[in-house]
Amino acid sequence: MSDILKLTAADLAAQLRAGELSSVEATQAHLDRIAAVDGDVHAFLHVSDHAIEVAQDIDRRRAAGEELGELAGVPLAIKDVLVTTDMPSTSGSKILEGYMSPYDATVVARSRAAGLVPLGKTNMDEFAMGSSTEHSAYGPTRNPWDLDRIPGGSGGGSAAAVAAFEAPLALGSDTGGSIRQPAHVTGTVGMKPTYGGVSRYGAIALASSLDQVGPVSRTVLDSALLHDVIGGHDPHDATSLTDAWPSFAAAAREGATGEVLKGLKVGVIRELDDSGFQAGVSESFRASLAAMEAAGAEIVEVSAPHFEYGVAAYYLILPAEASSNLAKFDSVRFGMRVNVPGGTVEDVMAATRDAGFGDEVKRRVILGTYALSAGYYDAYYGSAQKVRTLIQRDFDQAFAQVDVIATPSAPTTAFRLGEQLDDPLQMYLNDVTTIPVNLAGVPGISIPSGLAAEDGLPVGIQFVAPARKDARLYRVGAALEALLVDSWGGPILDRAPILGGAR
Ligand code: GLN
Repeated sequence: MSDILKLTAADLAAQLRAGELSSVEATQAHLDRIAAVDGDVHAFLHVSDHAIEVAQDIDRRRAAGEELGELAGVPLAIKDVLVTTDMPSTSGSKILEGYMSPYDATVVARSRAAGLVPLGKTNMDEFAMGSSTEHSAYGPTRNPWDLDRIPGGSGGGSAAAVAAFEAPLALGSDTGGSIRQPAHVTGTVGMKPTYGGVSRYGAIALASSLDQVGPVSRTVLDSALLHDVIGGHDPHDATSLTDAWPSFAAAAREGATGEVLKGLKVGVIRELDDSGFQAGVSESFRASLAAMEAAGAEIVEVSAPHFEYGVAAYYLILPAEASSNLAKFDSVRFGMRVNVPGGTVEDVMAATRDAGFGDEVKRRVILGTYALSAGYYDAYYGSAQKVRTLIQRDFDQAFAQVDVIATPSAPTTAFRLGEQLDDPLQMYLNDVTTIPVNLAGVPGISIPSGLAAEDGLPVGIQFVAPARKDARLYRVGAALEALLVDSWGGPILDRAPILGGAR
């Protein structure tokens, strides 16, 4: 494997700036890597035809002395939920097969403007519904740590691309855990920003009150660098915050010194019942807490009694919003149309949606339509919104006592393909610790905390901060990362079998 591939985005950017490497060389190395391993991993749904052209342009502009962004020339993988003008955008669904958007998502436009080089579009569960990428209409992505296992979901493609060194950076979206849970099972870093911190314009909507776009990377600093590029106010997104954000990269660099851990109050949730969690996940979590404590942090028990109702509330709120968002796939305005000779327009819509949507999408549209129906609205959707408020209050009260809250990022390591496919409820429970964070609109990050003793697979730890305190997560995440990488004698992905090449 080329040495270029092993560079972090920050180091790659530094070499590009210093003229030690060209963007064309860096981009070609990643395209070669994709050609070598993506037949096995299937992280990509589409690989860009003009990545080299874009890289040439960056190299030319750099040579001409133009002032370029910090990540200029660095390749980027883009989750297929984000619309792009030069590549199809399917959101993992047959109904959007081949769909070309007339505009770029704001995060894509900002990445291009910063000189990042789009490599392609990554695989995902259809319309971002799932925790394994097995609900993709285009076949599953496989976990680079073990090709028989899932890479998480819905953003399994972005996480697997980064873990398999097919891309140094990726964009993801997180409605209930789709950035953080894939990060957990692939040994990568994933950040869900504060709701409204990153534009959703051009992110194909799943549940608009929960969706957030965010970065995926191999180090905390790399996520921070990408967040600096994509974040900030966007007039195209009505829920976009107008805050002036601090530099997240500066926060990550400062955090790496470890100073932040001295006196840091880390909350653990008393009511989070981890008796059903895999032993190695809980052990790794406790070991990370102990490492932080030894470095000067204080571990404080906090109460969040409604945290455990997060999944139940989410599976009313999400399907309700999704059923409404997906109504636009009506065979008229976007994508696929199945003609019904002699049929009415309703017949055409029904036939198109029947053929174009997969089982999980249909399940949620039915659930959401039912939950919103006149007779049940108060009992289901209304109650779920009340629970959402209680969860938000739990977080508010906890953050009056602590700086961050820590949880395991998911209950188990990567499970086998097919293992949970026939059990939707089991699949939903993968997000038990990530979903409450979306319901509260607060930021959360998952960073690798080690390998589970029983299967040698990656485990992540999640940190949660109050709304708008995203920089704190980069500071704390970088501090723990520095401690752990030091104790491991190198990055966790050095131990992944994929480094030896495709299996
Ligand atoms: N796994 C969760 C779901 O299926 C979260 C998905 C997401 O964050 N997009 O809804």
